[in-house]
Amino acid sequence: MKKLGFGCMRLPVLDGDNSNIDVERFKEMVDLFQSRGFTYYDTAYNYHGGKSECALREALVERYPRNAFTITTKMPMFRVEKAEDFKRIFFEQLQRLGVEYVDYYWLHAINKKEYEKAQQLNAFGFISQMKAEGKIKHIGFSFHDSPELLDRILTEHPETEFVQLQINYIDWDSPAICGRQCYETAVKHGKPIIIMEPVKGGALANVPKPVEELFKKADPDASVASWAVRYAASLPNVLTVLSGMSNIEQVDDNTSYMRDFKPLDKDGFALVETAAETIKNYTAIPCTACRYCVDGCPQKISIPDYFGLYNEYMRMKRHLDGDYKNVQGGKPGQCVLCGRCENVCPQHLKIRSYLKDVAAIFEK
Ligand code: SF4
Ligand code: SF4
Repeated sequence: MKKLGFGCMRLPVLDGDNSNIDVERFKEMVDLFQSRGFTYYDTAYNYHGGKSECALREALVERYPRNAFTITTKMPMFRVEKAEDFKRIFFEQLQRLGVEYVDYYWLHAINKKEYEKAQQLNAFGFISQMKAEGKIKHIGFSFHDSPELLDRILTEHPETEFVQLQINYIDWDSPAICGRQCYETAVKHGKPIIIMEPVKGGALANVPKPVEELFKKADPDASVASWAVRYAASLPNVLTVLSGMSNIEQVDDNTSYMRDFKPLDKDGFALVETAAETIKNYTAIPCTACRYCVDGCPQKISIPDYFGLYNEYMRMKRHLDGDYKNVQGGKPGQCVLCGRCENVCPQHLKIRSYLKDVAAIFEK
């Protein structure tokens, strides 16, 4: 299998509405991806307000033979309340996707809280049963917590075949994400890894000027984002690397260098490490724009959009008032401090505190 997967969480949308996917543009992206020999697609129940799986059916499943692609989707543990929910959600997913089976199926966004729930409700038992019935080919979970918890889960559930981890060059040694330690734990248990967020939600495609110059000097033809994807794909034991692509140019760029992938050499790794150190000095809020926090916010605050603007402001020291006003929903100053967003943030960000910083800059 080629080492690039199509992440379907940042698809092109119409009218700025995250749940209104531009399926015609998505079809063009799928066609280019397929034509270059790539076949792996990663979606989830909650992506794009529940519309990503349906869009994948329209753009891919209804247009290509079943053996021409690999589909992966996930059980939204954060939406599960009772054991019966597993069956209802899983069969709804098969229907949304228009398939009789999925190739890889994950328990989504496992952390301490969701693992306790998974244990209580026998989530691993359910996905193992679906595998035995041929509705799932391979099982695993995507993970956002400590290496200690990962070690415990892989010990308690050796039936896990794969793990999906957040790994990128900026979070490799981060105490909050523990990319390296989680990676080493999965390797210790002999589990192949699928990497998510290699470009950290696009942040590593839009690096500070000195880092861009560093990369361009090393290879004028390589895009900045390509360093992040190639770094992740160069790690041993990695099955594939997901990139959440939003337009045809990104598909074109990613597939061009991943078609005949060559892992980074020692100098390449050293260069990326230097870049990581420089970037750390520039990023105010390390948000990946995964949007997990948005759905549950009672004030409908589009948190990642504000964090993106704040980071942009801190990098360029330039006000972005027009963009700020255009963000739909509640404003950062309307946060009621309920904390729901922080409970689901895979980056463990202190969102409430950051929103105060954003409001202090943009709402004064
Ligand atoms: S703490 Fe604020 S931003 Fe977070 S969910 Fe509650 S209202 Fe929304
Ligand atoms: S604040 Fe956290 S949950 Fe929300 S988009 Fe950013 S990284 Fe994702």
